Amino acid sequence: MGREDLSSPSAALTALLLCLLFTLSSCAKKAADVSKTSFAMGSVLTARVFAENGEEANAALDELFAAVGALDKRISAADPDAELARLNRTGEAVLSEETYAFLRQALSLSEATGGAADVTLGRVTTLWGFTSDEPKRPADEEIADALAHTGYAYAETRDATLQVTLKNGVQLDPGAFGKGAGCDEAYKVLSAHGCAGVVSLGGTVLVCGEKPDKTAWSVGVRDPKGDAESYLGTLTLKTGSDMPAFFVSTSGSYEKTFTENGQTYHHILDPGTGFPVRTALVSVTAVSGNGCVSDAMSTALFVRGLTDETRRWIGEDLTGAVFIYSDGGVYVTDGLKDAFQLTGGTGYRLLKEAP
Ligand code: ADP
Ligand code: MG
Repeated sequence: MGREDLSSPSAALTALLLCLLFTLSSCAKKAADVSKTSFAMGSVLTARVFAENGEEANAALDELFAAVGALDKRISAADPDAELARLNRTGEAVLSEETYAFLRQALSLSEATGGAADVTLGRVTTLWGFTSDEPKRPADEEIADALAHTGYAYAETRDATLQVTLKNGVQLDPGAFGKGAGCDEAYKVLSAHGCAGVVSLGGTVLVCGEKPDKTAWSVGVRDPKGDAESYLGTLTLKTGSDMPAFFVSTSGSYEKTFTENGQTYHHILDPGTGFPVRTALVSVTAVSGNGCVSDAMSTALFVRGLTDETRRWIGEDLTGAVFIYSDGGVYVTDGLKDAFQLTGGTGYRLLKEAP
């Protein structure tokens, strides 16, 4: 047997078959779809990445987890080595660009929401200890004292030097902003790799890029009365050149609670009173092209409810919002009316008019 002669019919057939096989295997590679789940920012982080091939998808997935983990290591208030925790201890620090940018955005959202979501609420949230093993209702005097040391205007930033000064003893709590910012990091990685994907971190979901089957993304809206897997509705979101990504954040009073002396307390605090917000709402879902914005806004809208002022925030910063009330009423703002569908849960009804 000599060298292969491609001019012979059998050799040509083999070459054709090989070529076909190669084409088929590279086609199969095109639909790479990889997923991973881990923990970040005190929550579950899940990512599903679609890419042209498995190598690209896995590289993007690894980078995504590293990027969210890196942000967590900078902006955590709980990790004593984190820059933000250090700033809370010292009251003044020159920050890295990443931490400074996060804090600037959180402060500007605190201001834009008139302090309804306030990143300087740390003294009050620490007293309640919702993220600790032993949450408790603080004494009224403790709350009054902590509130006196709260307010975004007390955090001074200097762009030229990246220096931040916390005046009046205020303490930062990134809780209402950080997971959204983590999703922004995830989006940077996915778009740099040209990958489509779905990321979920705590109460924020990111969908970006074009799904392999070119259909719109579906994001479930939690049923506040059900478990973590029950949804009452679906948002159908079509990404495109105008909106390459959607960030969907939900703040709900069912998320973290404890009961003391027969009274149940939830983790979204009214910065005006220092107590859990008293409201007819059970959850608010906010949709935006930016994760830190949707995260902050879901909290702020939960605090303030639907008013002329909050409608203005929605118009300026959000695609729209879904308000769910304890009596089962579901109000969807105009920007999401076509996207939202009631699909599950019991006793829910769509409200035509704002309550
Ligand atoms: P989740 O953490 O469940 O996603 P949120 O995004 O609404 O919910 O953030 C709630 C967390 O933010 C709380 O656990 C607390 O640490 C902090 N927090 C509570 N109320 C406020 C508020 N009004 N402004 C800023 N941060 C808040
Ligand atoms: Mg939030």
